Amino acid sequence: MVVPVFLPHMGCTQRCIYCHQGYITDIREDDLKARIEMALRGRGTPCEVGLFGGNIFGIEPAVLERIFACFDEHRDVISGFRLSTKPVPLRDETIAILKSSGVNVIELGVPTFNDGILHAMNRGHTAGDLFRAYERLAGEGFRLALQFMVGLPGEGPADIEETIRNMAALHPLYIRIYPLVILRNTPLYKLYEGGEFSPIPFDDALDRAVLIYLNALKRGIDVVNVGLTDNELVRDMVAGGFYHPAYGFLVQSRAFFMAVSGALRKLGDPAEATVILHRNDIPLFVGHKRENLARFAAMGITLHREASGPLQGSFETVSKAGSVSGTMLDGGGQ
Ligand code: SF4
Repeated sequence: MVVPVFLPHMGCTQRCIYCHQGYITDIREDDLKARIEMALRGRGTPCEVGLFGGNIFGIEPAVLERIFACFDEHRDVISGFRLSTKPVPLRDETIAILKSSGVNVIELGVPTFNDGILHAMNRGHTAGDLFRAYERLAGEGFRLALQFMVGLPGEGPADIEETIRNMAALHPLYIRIYPLVILRNTPLYKLYEGGEFSPIPFDDALDRAVLIYLNALKRGIDVVNVGLTDNELVRDMVAGGFYHPAYGFLVQSRAFFMAVSGALRKLGDPAEATVILHRNDIPLFVGHKRENLARFAAMGITLHREASGPLQGSFETVSKAGSVSGTMLDGGGQ
């Protein structure tokens, strides 16, 4: 169990162009203690604490030490920490503090490995910085996760392939995938409003997220999150991009669609077939607002379903020509 404690924008010395302007770079110590108290009060069993929402590596070491000291009175229920950060600046002092404070997992944000796009996003780091940080931190014994984005300005299919290649080579503990969302009051919003940035179609960005998702799972890399957490603040600020309250479901159901389509192709694209699947997979098979069924119908295929499959994530497609078994991971991956 991970109990999150948010440190909004702490350590962000420069703002990524898609990040919103509710920009607080400093949290008062008593405010932080109140947050910690609220998150951990009354907890009987040990838990991990997640420090999210900023760039932990950008926090001055002396301040970082004080932040960890705020957890001292709850140490008996804290089994360790995980945190999210950009890969820079990589300071010896910071690493020493993280080690002595009980940090186990570090999530490194690398929206893309394309340096031109990273620069345009004002990330303040390159792909090389990510590789350097990854190697150093892994060598120091931290377990590492990666956070990717899809739908960035200037991003093409080759960038997604590079993300997948690097993910496979680095083999993180887990990943998160965030679709680009255009929030009001951001530099990105200005570009969007001024016509300098036109997002790719929603479906194309979704396909890119699906590719990363499937390739991670095929390599035994866990995907712990796809899409932004749905909350009113985000919803009110969204002006464009690829926000959807059920983005993770969209990705999974698109993956299911791809896998079943592949099985149908092997059967010679029959006009009629039955998909035998686990009952828990029916929503993924049907799709958001029955989108998958509509797509199959548009392809001229009448599909029946039988919820008698024994294994979640697996299915069998049966037509007059025979049957083909598959899993949800069969579509779209490399
Ligand atoms: S690192 Fe994260 S919190 Fe900081 S500016 Fe970029 S998107 Fe915002």
